[in-house]
Amino acid sequence: MTEYENIAANLANIKARAAQAAAKAGRGPSSVTVVAAAKTNGADAVRASIAAGVDAVGENRVQEMLGKLAENAYNGAPLHFIGHLQTNKVKQVIGRVDLLQSLDSFKLAEAVEQTAASMGIVQDALVEVNIGDEGNKTGFALCDLHKYLHKILELPHIRVCGLMTIPPVETESRPAKYYFDRMNKLFVDIKPILLDNISSPILSMGMSGDFERAIEAGATMIRVGTALFGNR
Ligand SMILES: *Cc1c(COP(=O)(O)O)cnc(C)c1O
Repeated sequence: MTEYENIAANLANIKARAAQAAAKAGRGPSSVTVVAAAKTNGADAVRASIAAGVDAVGENRVQEMLGKLAENAYNGAPLHFIGHLQTNKVKQVIGRVDLLQSLDSFKLAEAVEQTAASMGIVQDALVEVNIGDEGNKTGFALCDLHKYLHKILELPHIRVCGLMTIPPVETESRPAKYYFDRMNKLFVDIKPILLDNISSPILSMGMSGDFERAIEAGATMIRVGTALFGNR
């Protein structure tokens, strides 16, 4: 047994648990997309995850993504960017990724718009929400979300497909469910607007330790790293 056989077994386990959580929420298994958060795992591990059937692969770091792109690691699966993207690296990412999950500031949105326009493409993206209003975290604060969402929706070379979040570390008084429920409420509020852009708007939340609770709260996309690839 090679180390990569674990990936297929891990994915089968994740999918079964995701399907169970979706059923609990009254939804079918196909209502949840599984994104492999590849982070530090090399091209062979990424290929194994695609062969095992992940729906997409997500990368956090531009350099790492470019290295694996050069190795054709993502052939056969959509590629997502899920990390913080600095405006000076926008040109290296836009047009290369199927979904930018981490549109986390209006300054970034303007840079993406400019690059996508110059390439003559429309970039699919999720608007990242700082659901815990944490000072050290990127993403739109709740109080500005509606204002900026409307401004981003006016940018013709960005197609807003949904929302993404990385909630705060849970505590006893604020368990993960608390933030997932808040995100879902926001998502439901803005869904009518998103339906002008996309038939199935995306709510990306939930990672290895909490994806079932995220799905029960309404997530349509989960991002799993360690549960799929093993400990980093
Ligand atoms: C690393 C990462 C994940 C996956 O985290 P795990 O806990 O390893 O599943 C998901 N989303 C983002 C944005 C990440 O950086």
